[in-house]
Amino acid sequence: MHDVVIVGARCGGAATALHLARQGHRVLLVDQARFPSDVRLSTHLIWHAGVDLLDEWGLLTRLVDSGCPLLRDMKLDMGELTVRGTPPHTRVGAAMAPRRVVLDQVLLDAAREAGADVLEGFTLTGVVRDAAGRVTGVQGRLADGGERALPARFVVGADGTHSPLARAVNAATLVAQDKDAGSHNVYAYFDELPLDEVEFHSRPERMFYAWHTHHGQTLVGLIRPGRAGRVSQAEAGAVFLRECEALAPTLASKVKRARLASDWTAVSTGTHRRQASGAGWALVGDAGATIDPITAAGITGALRDARLLAGLLHEGLSGQRPMDEAMADYGPERDRMGEPLHQFAQDMAQLLPPPPEMLPVFAALAQQPHQADRYFGLFGQTVMPADFFSPENLSAILSAGAPNASA
Ligand SMILES: Cc1cc2nc3c(=O)[nH]c(=O)nc-3n(C[C@H](O)[C@H](O)[C@H](O)COP(=O)(O)OP(=O)(O)OC[C@H]3O[C@@H](n4cnc5c(N)ncnc54)[C@H](O)[C@@H]3O)c2cc1C
Repeated sequence: MHDVVIVGARCGGAATALHLARQGHRVLLVDQARFPSDVRLSTHLIWHAGVDLLDEWGLLTRLVDSGCPLLRDMKLDMGELTVRGTPPHTRVGAAMAPRRVVLDQVLLDAAREAGADVLEGFTLTGVVRDAAGRVTGVQGRLADGGERALPARFVVGADGTHSPLARAVNAATLVAQDKDAGSHNVYAYFDELPLDEVEFHSRPERMFYAWHTHHGQTLVGLIRPGRAGRVSQAEAGAVFLRECEALAPTLASKVKRARLASDWTAVSTGTHRRQASGAGWALVGDAGATIDPITAAGITGALRDARLLAGLLHEGLSGQRPMDEAMADYGPERDRMGEPLHQFAQDMAQLLPPPPEMLPVFAALAQQPHQADRYFGLFGQTVMPADFFSPENLSAILSAGAPNASA
């Protein structure tokens, strides 16, 4: 019998398994997929706080060695003005965008090396409960069609946004937004598209972006508000080029000189926050909290919550505290950081023009490298929205940025 069975073996699940196994617990990681396995619906940018975690866990070198560059310089082109910077308070000082087939494998290998058992080709079909209703294991189907029950002291659902485990345990939905209330994302990979920095081009109702992934390949995309209607897969490339040429011509000219290296993907996603844990179970990563992709915060959030969850599970499993008492801290602590980031992403996904009172703030930011860094820290998850957008900080930006500010 394992201490913990984790369903879903990517950023949320493999990272949780890695921590638990490193602390000496018996962990079984199961997934319906067979690895190495890619995820197409991801633009896989990992901002600074996530890269710092990967570095702390000893995994950054493996990702760099896979041919994935560190991305240090960020540019936000807002049409009238451009802000450059890099998030403050970081260990590595960089973002990166490893393909998921690489990132998830690095995490999975590290979990295995730490002692976690891995069962691929196992599809969760339900949970096992004791007489009191406490979850005591999972039930699933093996690749050969056979059914198998896997008992455990605790069960973790890291099985993604549609989380069959959340359904099986009746996890309450705390917040939910449908696809049209969020962003619609259109992207493809290009060869021979050199960039000096990560590029964001923000326009009313549109956001264009480009960043390097492995071996100089570049991911390029367009985000539209869901309410503007979805673009079909077939028309995605033409829509991207037409809108990019009209609204972000400098990026469009680079794209036109480059070579398309993949199909276009067009995707919308609903978002939610679910009850984090219950009797014998917890959710981590997208299973528990799916955030709009516009801020590229999901992977970092999954890694952060995996560390938090594993730490609390360790307290329960090792008898430092009763398990239920330890787990009672999980949801509030997850949401302390996650809830404001969820709201920030949901607001950004509307892609509304900045309110008039924010225009002088952005103009001033372009002149203030320290505050520009803090602005990028909102995305790097090293500066919280409540700190950056506090009246004190905004007035500090405005007074320092005024043309005739006294010395
Ligand atoms: C279009 C788009 C772009 C995005 N871009 C970014 C980005 O640039 N940066 C970023 O940080 N985040 C991004 N995200 C979010 C990011 O992809 C997720 O936050 C991240 O994948 C969550 O990881 P996870 O481990 O929780 O779940 P997942 O990566 O979804 O993994 C879940 C695993 O559970 C397994 N599973 C599911 N059901 C079962 C079952 N019944 N039995 C067994 N196994 C099962 C699946 O096979 C899968 O391996 C994006 C999301 C979308 C939709």
